[in-house]
Amino acid sequence: MAKTRIALAGIGKIARDQHIPTLANSDGFELAAIVTSHAQVDGVPAFRTVTEMMQALPDIQALSVCTPPRGRQALLEEAFAHGLDVMIEKPPAATVSEATGFADMAAKANKLLYVTWHSREGAAVEPARAWLKDKGIRRVDIAWKEDVRVWHPGQEWIWEPGIGVFDPGINALSVLTAIMPRPVRLEDAELRFPSNKDAPIAASLTMSEPQGAVIRAEFDFDQRGPQTWDIVVQTDAGTATLSIGGTRLAIDGEPVEVKEEPEYARLYRHFAGLLAARRSDTDLSPFHLVADAFLLGRRQTLGAFDWNG
Ligand code: NAP
Repeated sequence: MAKTRIALAGIGKIARDQHIPTLANSDGFELAAIVTSHAQVDGVPAFRTVTEMMQALPDIQALSVCTPPRGRQALLEEAFAHGLDVMIEKPPAATVSEATGFADMAAKANKLLYVTWHSREGAAVEPARAWLKDKGIRRVDIAWKEDVRVWHPGQEWIWEPGIGVFDPGINALSVLTAIMPRPVRLEDAELRFPSNKDAPIAASLTMSEPQGAVIRAEFDFDQRGPQTWDIVVQTDAGTATLSIGGTRLAIDGEPVEVKEEPEYARLYRHFAGLLAARRSDTDLSPFHLVADAFLLGRRQTLGAFDWNG
């Protein structure tokens, strides 16, 4: 079958670390162009806008968006106006209304929108969901702690008002909302802001689910040394531990064998499946929990953040 001709918009860290190498090895997609303010990718034509790209290469079929969450509106309007199907990196947008609007725009244009959650493609996430689906959940503890200096070196957008530690934290929430048998609700939040930034560097969340289990999450963007991406679910039939960002699963301490496959290979395979079925996937539930944390969160101020600190 012919590969889908796809363009990448926003050639930064995640485009270079994951999207470009994944597309280079993809059976389903061919990287046909980039939309960029200044980047170059060997052998791939570059354009400043989607419109310029479509004038030069009208056979491009899809756009994968790797720009920061704030500022995607115009890009998506242009993409749908030119008849492209679109997938977007997490977090989906700057605000909930903007993200909801993206889904409406896709539906009106009769095009697909894939709101991606790469951590849901961790190899152990689906096995965890399958194991948990008939269990009574007693308690969930999430620890998602990483060093912003390693994963977002010098990226000032991460400290714009809003997302901060929820940029990685939303990955944990995307896994949580995928594996829990019932919907999750935010109950309480504490957001900790550096004195010189308008975005939180750490957060503690308390959530609930309809059968009464308590779900706690600790997010930290200032974790030095080993990084932690763990979710521990205590049930009436044992404890499931998802570790290393949803790539490992143990039940009562016993490792479960999972099929090893890189997250982004699965992500693009999922998009290929959506294209074949002509179906959108626009689940915003992790984003709703983040928005709720800002609605309910108590605020604490910490010392100043320093990229070199
Ligand atoms: P990044 O390194 O800052 O790259 C973003 C790119 O988007 C820039 O290089 C630029 O590309 C373009 N851009 C357009 N408007 C911009 C603006 N106002 N400020 C900065 N860049 C702008 O960011 P990233 O780490 O790749 O993250 C991009 C998205 O991927 C985010 O939603 C993030 O949450 C997600 N993500 C990141 C990681 C990670 O490990 N860093 C992992 C998974 C997902 P051009 O120069 O080509 O115009």
